[in-house]
Amino acid sequence: MSPRVIAHVDMDAFFASVEQRDNPDLRGKPVLVGGSSKRGVVMAASYEARKFGCRSAMPTAQALRLCPQAIVVKGGHGKYFAISKQVFGVVRSFTPDVQPISIDEAFFDLTNVMHLHAKGWDREHAWEEPGRGGDMRSRPAGPIEPLRALGLAIKQRIREAVDLPASIGISGNKFLAKLCSDLSKPDGLKILPPQDAEEALKPLPVGVIFGVGPKAQERLRQLGIRTIADLRGFGEDRLVSRFGDHARDWLGLARGDDNRPVRTSREQKSIGKERTFFENIGDPEELRALLLSFVEDVARSLREDGLKTKGVTLKLRLGDFRTFTRSRALEEPTDATKDIWAAAWSLLQEWLQERKGALRLMGVSLHGLTEQTQLGLFAAEPAPVQRDISESKVDSTLDAIVKKFGRDAIRRGGSLHDR
Ligand SMILES: [Mg+2]
Repeated sequence: MSPRVIAHVDMDAFFASVEQRDNPDLRGKPVLVGGSSKRGVVMAASYEARKFGCRSAMPTAQALRLCPQAIVVKGGHGKYFAISKQVFGVVRSFTPDVQPISIDEAFFDLTNVMHLHAKGWDREHAWEEPGRGGDMRSRPAGPIEPLRALGLAIKQRIREAVDLPASIGISGNKFLAKLCSDLSKPDGLKILPPQDAEEALKPLPVGVIFGVGPKAQERLRQLGIRTIADLRGFGEDRLVSRFGDHARDWLGLARGDDNRPVRTSREQKSIGKERTFFENIGDPEELRALLLSFVEDVARSLREDGLKTKGVTLKLRLGDFRTFTRSRALEEPTDATKDIWAAAWSLLQEWLQERKGALRLMGVSLHGLTEQTQLGLFAAEPAPVQRDISESKVDSTLDAIVKKFGRDAIRRGGSLHDR
């Protein structure tokens, strides 16, 4: 695989920056955008408020205890969506391969367009320094300068379009690109050649690794593991024995490896896992355990891609090759393993009650995938963008099912829309 050039753009304190842009009285002051009621939650904190420890997703009451002088602004989601659309429009003018992952954040793939933006760009040797590895064909300026020029140009165009600061990270994969934009904030630009990642990652806290949440961090800390260097030094087997297979993913990221593609919204998305068994399986306990492991895998892929699912489909094939699908819609889009498992397990229980026989294949797939994970914050009021997404997803989901399971799936799939 030739080297990739992947970038991540993230607006700085997005909602708060918008409010400060639109109201000069708020500039330079601690601002919290979010609900002011007892159960209100902070959706964004300005950098002035962050100095006091205020963070998004924190209860407003808690944020106000940390910073009593903060100004709470309700915010207007219509405005934010309009700006978000403009920002992604700017990014799309540089490359069509854009994957929005929230209202103010997107990955974009520059691999196939760098030659349009930088004269003499050699995509086969994208990250090579001139003279490095003895290859003198590389650009005289090396890879960093053209990437820096492009990154600055994108930031400049965003500034012109919406008058807001954005941070951009550029590297060889999604994990590193997002890390770069996070580290460069606010109003930053950071470029990390992937060959330098292993060294650059060493001193960073394990929490930067995708999937290492606060609980895992605490458990790791108890083992004396604070940095990525500590994690790598602990040993794969010892980690896996304590944290399960997730630890292998962590170690891959800890080395700077991440093969996840940038998925554009035009692509049909479907996440699934199925297995043909060596011998047919009829034992309910065995099937339950297998299904649970499948659900854990697909739920993880879902979260890695920053997606949520609206439904679960089971695929079941008997020894005589008759194939069945069973689907269930979820009440709300989710990326939680337990919600997906609850739906998948109830489908399997219903299937087992039908007593059709032992299975030669079982699979689980997720459908109705949505990207805009932060939209949930506005659940009280349906957002226009959200409607657009779900409408287009109905089609692409049905297409994906037909493609994957054949037309029979749709005929039998009346249950798809059961609530
Ligand atoms: Mg942001």
